[in-house]
Amino acid sequence: MVVSARIHEPVVGAGVAGGGRTRPDTEAVVAPTDALEASLAVTTGRPLGIVMLGPPGAGKGTQAARLAARYAIANVATGDLLRAQVAEGTTLGRRARGYMHRGDLVPDELVTAMVLQRLGRPDCADGFLLDGYPRTVGQAEALDAWLSERCACIVAVLHFRITEDELLRRLQRRADEQHRDDDTVETIRYRLRVFASETQPLVEHYAKRGTLLTVDAIGTTEEVTARVVTGLTGRANGHQVARARRAT
Ligand code: ADP
Repeated sequence: MVVSARIHEPVVGAGVAGGGRTRPDTEAVVAPTDALEASLAVTTGRPLGIVMLGPPGAGKGTQAARLAARYAIANVATGDLLRAQVAEGTTLGRRARGYMHRGDLVPDELVTAMVLQRLGRPDCADGFLLDGYPRTVGQAEALDAWLSERCACIVAVLHFRITEDELLRRLQRRADEQHRDDDTVETIRYRLRVFASETQPLVEHYAKRGTLLTVDAIGTTEEVTARVVTGLTGRANGHQVARARRAT
C-alpha cells in the first residue's frame, strides 16, 4: 500500500517562536504501516540523513529517538554530545559550558568540528539523524559541504511547526520535570529568541534546496511520528518517480 502524503512547504517568515502564529493546514494523519516503512527503505536504497529543525520544546528529542530506532540510524544529538563534554571536563566542554548556561549558541567552529567528527564514525554510514544541528546558516553550509563530499544519502530536513503558546507550556513542564540548569523561564525565552534569529532562517535555506518537510508538531507523540513517516515515504516515492523518469 502506498499512501501519498501532502507535503506542505513552509511559509517563509511565519516564525513560530517569533510570532506565535498557527497555520491549520496540517496534513492528514495516516498511521504508518510496515509496508510504508519497507517502501521507504526499498525505494531509496541509500542511507537516510534526517535533520531535525524546530524550536526548543517542539518535541525534536522525543521524535528523534523514535525515528532513529524506526529507521535503524544513528541518533546524533548535539545538546547531549555537548553536555557529555561538559561533564567530562574536556577542553571543548570547558569552552562550551558558559554559552550553554546562558542559552547562547556554542560557536560554529566548535560544534561543527564535533558533529562532523561524529558523522564520520562507522555507525553513521547506514544513515543518521541530527537533532540540534545545524542551528545557524554557517553550520548548515558546513553540513551541506560535508554531505555533498562524503555522503550519498537522501537528506530530509524535518521542520517541526508549533505555536508559541504550546511551546511555552511544554518548556515550563520540562523545566519543572527535568531541572536542567538552562531551562529557567528567562533562558527559555532567550533560547526562543536565539532560535528565531539564528535557526529560523534555515527553513528558507532548506526550502530552496527542496529538502524541507514541514510537520505539524502539535498532537500526540504517535500522531507526530505518523506524520513524519508518511511525509518521508512520500518523499522516498517521489525519489523513485524521479529515477524512473530518468531511466526512460
Ligand atoms: P534545546 O533544543 O532544548 O535548546 P539542546 O539539548 O539541543 O537543547 O541544546 C542545549 C544547548 O547546547 C543549546 O542551548 C546550545 O547552547 C548548545 N547547542 C546544541 N546544539 C548546538 C548547535 N548546533 N550550535 C550551537 N550550540 C548548540
